[in-house]
Amino acid sequence: TKWVYSFGGGTADGKADLRNLLGGKGANLAEMSALGLPVPPGFTITTEVCTYFNQHGHSYPDSLADELAQALAKVEAEVGALFGDAKNPLLVSVRSGARVSMPGMMDTVLNLGLNDATVEGLASRSGDPRFAYDSYRRFIQMYSNVVLGVDHHNFEEILELEKEEKGVSLDTELNAEDWQRIIVQYKERVEEEHGKAFPQDPKEQLWGAIEAVFGSWMNQRAITYRRLHGVPEDWGTAVNVQAMVFGNMGDDCATGVAFTRDPSTGRNYFYGEYLVNAQGEDVVAGIRTPQSLTKAAREESGGDLPSMEEVMPEVFGQLLAVRERLERHYRDMQDIEFTVQSGKLYMLQTRGGKRTTPAALKIAVDMVADGLITREEAVQRIDPLQLDQLLHPTLDPNAERVIVARGLPASPGAASGIIVFSADEAEKRAQAGEAVILCRVETSPEDIHGMHAAKGILTTRGGMTSHAAVVARGMGRACVAGAGELRVDYRNGTIRVRDIELKAGDIITIDGSSGEIYQGAVQTIQPELSGDFATLMTWADGIRTLKVRTNAETPTDCRTAIGFGAEGIGLCRTEHMFFDATRIVAVREMILAEQTEGRRKALAKLLPMQRQDFVEIFKIMRGLPVTIRLLDPPLHEFLPREESEFSEVAEAAGVSVELLRDRVIKLAEMNPMLGHRGCRLAITYPEIYEMQARAIFEAAVAVQKESGEAPLVEVMIPLVSMEAELTRLTALVRDVAEAVFNETGERLEYLVGTMIELPRACLLADRIAKDAEFFSFGTNDLTQTTFGLSRDDAGNFLPAYEARGILEQDPFVSLDQDGVGQLVAMAAERGRRTRETIKLGICGEHGGDPASVRFCHGVGLDYVSCSPFRVPIARLAAAQAAL
Ligand code: ADP
Ligand code: MG
Ligand code: MG
Repeated sequence: TKWVYSFGGGTADGKADLRNLLGGKGANLAEMSALGLPVPPGFTITTEVCTYFNQHGHSYPDSLADELAQALAKVEAEVGALFGDAKNPLLVSVRSGARVSMPGMMDTVLNLGLNDATVEGLASRSGDPRFAYDSYRRFIQMYSNVVLGVDHHNFEEILELEKEEKGVSLDTELNAEDWQRIIVQYKERVEEEHGKAFPQDPKEQLWGAIEAVFGSWMNQRAITYRRLHGVPEDWGTAVNVQAMVFGNMGDDCATGVAFTRDPSTGRNYFYGEYLVNAQGEDVVAGIRTPQSLTKAAREESGGDLPSMEEVMPEVFGQLLAVRERLERHYRDMQDIEFTVQSGKLYMLQTRGGKRTTPAALKIAVDMVADGLITREEAVQRIDPLQLDQLLHPTLDPNAERVIVARGLPASPGAASGIIVFSADEAEKRAQAGEAVILCRVETSPEDIHGMHAAKGILTTRGGMTSHAAVVARGMGRACVAGAGELRVDYRNGTIRVRDIELKAGDIITIDGSSGEIYQGAVQTIQPELSGDFATLMTWADGIRTLKVRTNAETPTDCRTAIGFGAEGIGLCRTEHMFFDATRIVAVREMILAEQTEGRRKALAKLLPMQRQDFVEIFKIMRGLPVTIRLLDPPLHEFLPREESEFSEVAEAAGVSVELLRDRVIKLAEMNPMLGHRGCRLAITYPEIYEMQARAIFEAAVAVQKESGEAPLVEVMIPLVSMEAELTRLTALVRDVAEAVFNETGERLEYLVGTMIELPRACLLADRIAKDAEFFSFGTNDLTQTTFGLSRDDAGNFLPAYEARGILEQDPFVSLDQDGVGQLVAMAAERGRRTRETIKLGICGEHGGDPASVRFCHGVGLDYVSCSPFRVPIARLAAAQAAL
């Protein structure tokens, strides 16, 4: 096995495809190097070494040391310097890098190879002793912190004291001698804290850093992150060792980060920040205010610090060329890191840039227009779940608002919520069902859980590439960053701006698209599907074969779903119409009636109301198929639970309290989920389904007469497990239809079918298909009954199953393809055997889950049905399934 891969000097052992072995950073450094871009030479120790290391008691494969020595010699030759040499020392950075970028991994160590002797060499080679000692103290600080675990504050303390003594406030005001004194103190402190002297041997430093990177794969933060994001432990991380270049050697030096297109909007312009005379992560850390890359961006932001384009036009030109080159090569927007040393550009990193959903859509659509990618690729690039972000509200332009401050528009979307100041509090309050806005000076990886729990994130420090901004965009949370006017006081739990004071628990609204912050809750509006989003959805529609319907029973939901491209209703639940305040009285009357006669009387009152519901829905759906499920829940759900409500309810229904109490007791069930519900209700009380069928057909006929657009009515009988149940009830529905057609003199086409939601129905699907013209898989109940797992109670123990890795994911969220999926596939197959043209769909919650949609495509269903807001997600997922 080859453990070490070299790169630099226009060649590389590795390439982008070797991401699994080299990690993302290493693979792309190799790729850029092979492309001939200016990459400081270096080498990557593979992720396999990480796995070996953690499985063999922190030891290494035998040949690693030799391979490393050879690779290091190559770097030395390329740079023309020697590692550990007192006159002409090679310095390196040690950088971690897993397959996917992963917080929790060890931080980068820069300037490795410096010691008391080599620092003198660096000083004389660079002709700048101050730079050399500054680099050395940075190295001691970083290495001691990251590798030896010596806390930052030790160094800050020493530095502050020195500055005080000298009467200066900025690091830049310290000279070479000052740094030398500080270095002495740093080393003493390290020895005190660590119990051993700071390592002077560069080889020891290097192996120490490598070991720390591999070890960090198993630290608690990394483990937690992997668990939350489903990253397998055996992926491991690679280690990149790379020759240092210096952005801090003077005013012709700089360091910066950039996106090849705007990651927030997707606009095709070069977007980034840089700092003159700075090193490493100074830009991201927000120590100094970074400057714009382009003149245009500087002018747009009204900043007064000059842009890189203005300060170093020649290097900027090179950087522009690299941007072009990388986009053409990767055919995607890139996130890059670079450093300029003495007027020469070096590339330190490239990767696919994180972007907001609007940006992802715009970039994909633009790249198709530019001929960089095909429509199919564009469709494949968008994560369907990501679309969810676009389906979030924006501020109503007409709503009243009191603006309190402005920050950077770091991640789009508007959110209102109560002010909280810590990630833990955010999580706690969110769990209690409150909408929260997490307000921080800045965020760090420890805040991730709180950011996730929050509706929005507000910071007072940091730029568009700050931690808060990047993470919020990735999570799809609204974020306003760097609102510098605000003074956050954690201790007193307040935010001050001018004479306004906001307290923890107060409601604020942030608009991550404009960067504005408002007092109180501001009215928001629902988004619509237009622009790039609409374009991409059209492409998706051209690719997919699976139809997408919606689960809806209110006119509002129907309209929303149509707006999002629903092609019909896959599940219209009728019981929701029964719970309406004006109807529940009649419903109860029906339940409390002792004879069929009384029930019919009460049902007659419900008929016109139910008919009107359907008229409205059919009108909105304009000739599209509408699957209506007849009454499903057990009757006791409609009766009051509390004794205190009895007298009022009894009076309204015109019965005695005793009778009501008696009925409540009689109807109570040990296990309602498996009780007297679904088609079982109609076996005992056929008049209920008769009324519903009549309401449906009368409404359909009325709409057909009025508009000429007859709906395609699909009447669905729930909870069938026996052929005979369905035989009886389809006959009942057909009789009512015939009666209505005869009475009105109008006919229309319709289907009668069943919901497949019990394992027995799957097993006997061939027989059930004799009566059913369609099957709709009710995968919520099918999951409950297949697992024997009550959905309402599973919350008590399912999380433990997930935490222990027994279940990969909640089977109510993503279809259990191994188990429940088998039943679905079998029933589909058996149903088709009996009735070749049987229509097949799914209407469980799973219809909006991309993985489940893919499964449905695979077993050849005709459509999926999901909640209105999931329709675009399902459309895209269906297209991806077809590719
Ligand atoms: P992260 O994964 O946190 O981005 P990196 O390994 O990319 O960490 O390192 C962070 C920063 O350190 C880089 O953006 C770059 O500015 C600096 N850096 C890393 N390696 C070198 C190097 N060889 N020369 C100069 N600067 C470097
Ligand atoms: Mg880092
Ligand atoms: Mg980086």
